[in-house]
Amino acid sequence: MKKHNFNAGPSILPRIAIENSAKAILDLNGSGMSLLEISHRSKDFQAIIDEAVALFRELLNIPENYHVLFLGGGASLQFCMVPYNLMKTKAAYLETGVWAKKAIKEGKFFGQVDVVASSADKNFTYIPKNFTIPADADYFHITTNNTIYGSEIRYDIDSPVPLVADMSSDILSRPVDVSKYAMIYGGAQKNLGPAGVTFVILREDVLGKTGRPIPTMLDYTTHIKEGSMFNTPPCFAIYTVLETLRWIKELGGVKKMEEMNKAKAQLLYDAIDNSKMFVGTVEKDSRSLMNICFVMKEQYKDKEDAFMEFAKGKGMVGIKGHRSVGGFRCSTYNALPVESIQAMIDCMHEFEAANA
Ligand SMILES: *Cc1c(COP(=O)(O)O)cnc(C)c1O
Repeated sequence: MKKHNFNAGPSILPRIAIENSAKAILDLNGSGMSLLEISHRSKDFQAIIDEAVALFRELLNIPENYHVLFLGGGASLQFCMVPYNLMKTKAAYLETGVWAKKAIKEGKFFGQVDVVASSADKNFTYIPKNFTIPADADYFHITTNNTIYGSEIRYDIDSPVPLVADMSSDILSRPVDVSKYAMIYGGAQKNLGPAGVTFVILREDVLGKTGRPIPTMLDYTTHIKEGSMFNTPPCFAIYTVLETLRWIKELGGVKKMEEMNKAKAQLLYDAIDNSKMFVGTVEKDSRSLMNICFVMKEQYKDKEDAFMEFAKGKGMVGIKGHRSVGGFRCSTYNALPVESIQAMIDCMHEFEAANA
């Protein structure tokens, strides 16, 4: 049976990126060597990371004065590296979900954290709107897409202080005005590649202001100086990122991704909004294009398990909502084809016809 992969992360990647990565594992570019057994200092690998950085720059239109790094440790290590490198006394954070809370927790190790607004009062079902960013904060941290709750900030915020964004789950899903951010980071394993590599886009002028000594591996300047190769980088993961970036370029870039993502999300949100049984969990103007969360209406709550089984039987994978939301979550990343959305909608209609 055909599987429809709605996993939240690690998640669906372009088939061609997976096939080409598999080929490179067996024989990299006809060299007779596996991608897995060559030196990260070799010409072959240098060409891979150089092209990945160049394509990332091109696709996101990253200005010259920004660095692009591919590091280890996941987005979670960035929760610590950001304040370690950027916070002198105080930073501001927007609390929009579990990942934002985790970032806040790490920030508190390094100074004062001002949570300027939170949507915790309604289980993170909306993006707070009227908040003031303190002008004396060293930076303002946001999570653009809240993977667990399915809410998203789909515009570039104007911030009076350096803006830092965790874009783990919506990077390359839309064009971004990078110049409005001091830093953008994220784990690759949602929309960009396999687990194991973390991307960092960073404007150098925000560094060197804390007066605090920073251990070598946690210091961005180390990785900038060494071109992400102070130590051995996650070579394989970087290769698959490169293949994913090639695929995005081939299809027409991030503008095209946004178009496709909007069309896909619209189909599914419309199906939810017109449904007798299902209801979306997030306020309409805060809805994510990447993670679409919904539950069964009160009178049908006892049918959730049955629908889960039914959908599994139709090839749907990874649609169980996170335990803090319940119900269902369809992650609709760049690589998810519209056919999978259609299959999910058919599945909902069929179940409704029999049960509502
Ligand atoms: C998945 C995720 C993370 C955690 O990433 P790791 O690479 O596992 O540390 C952080 N932020 C967001 C928004 C995520 O979706």
